[in-house]
Amino acid sequence: MKILVADDSLVMRRLLESIIDAWGYEVLSARDGGEAWAVLSQPDAPQIAILDWMMPVYTGLELCAMVRELRRKSYTYLILLTSRGLRQDIVEGLSAGADDYVVKPFEKQELEVRLRAGRRIIDLQAELVAAQAALMEQATRDALTKIWNRASILEALDREVIRSQREKRGLGVLMIDLDHFKLINDSYGHQAGDEALRETARRMQAAIRPYDSLGRYGGEEFLMVVPGCDDFCLSAHAERLRLVMESETFVVAGQEVRLTASFGASSTSSGAETSAEELIRSADAALYEAKRAGRNRVVMAEPLTK
Ligand SMILES: [Mg+2]
Repeated sequence: MKILVADDSLVMRRLLESIIDAWGYEVLSARDGGEAWAVLSQPDAPQIAILDWMMPVYTGLELCAMVRELRRKSYTYLILLTSRGLRQDIVEGLSAGADDYVVKPFEKQELEVRLRAGRRIIDLQAELVAAQAALMEQATRDALTKIWNRASILEALDREVIRSQREKRGLGVLMIDLDHFKLINDSYGHQAGDEALRETARRMQAAIRPYDSLGRYGGEEFLMVVPGCDDFCLSAHAERLRLVMESETFVVAGQEVRLTASFGASSTSSGAETSAEELIRSADAALYEAKRAGRNRVVMAEPLTK
């Protein structure tokens, strides 16, 4: 773990460096507040800093306030180093954003205990961030395929509808349904069905552009949002995805299976005031047509122009 030591006294700096280095931390040092800020404002800044109160350019107190102003996701634990022990000063330091303080001259052991406390806070905070990310993942991703779940892909569509109107660009929607999926489940079991869904999601995800969104709409149905894509572009996109499915067999329960999908496509022309519901309804109707016409094909709905 990296620790920043900032003090304008060379003696104090060397002392802190040698002590902290001996405890196994990686020490970075700064000679004044300006140098300290150059380090602390970096994206990969140390998460613990020991800042002298009285320094040129910025005081330790000012640095505390500046670091807090960054509102980083990962916490920076700040220890003020002061030769003043007045109660009033300590209150001022803590309210500026310091987490702790050490009064000079300090006991080695005292500093060690304070650093350990800081480390504990940093570790706890990292765990909290990871737990939040995991919760977010659970709430927005489909558990089986790891692509967006229904609520999230619909949210993405709402966002793109608004954006396409603002930026006067086209927007495409693909409703995709695996053909004869029930047969896979019935012949090879539900685990094989799950594997087929996962593989489908993987293949399509690998074939789309970075700004397209793919979600599981329900059962064996997928919804893809394709921004900046008009009728012509969407048709090419859908056909490519159809081939991605058709061209390679799936290995399901140790057997090679050919699995295809039907595509219903709807799009808006640039800036048309279409709603997400209309786009979905229209793609759904086109998908129904694709199924009725024999599956493993793309059917394009009339572009929505107003
Ligand atoms: Mg000083």
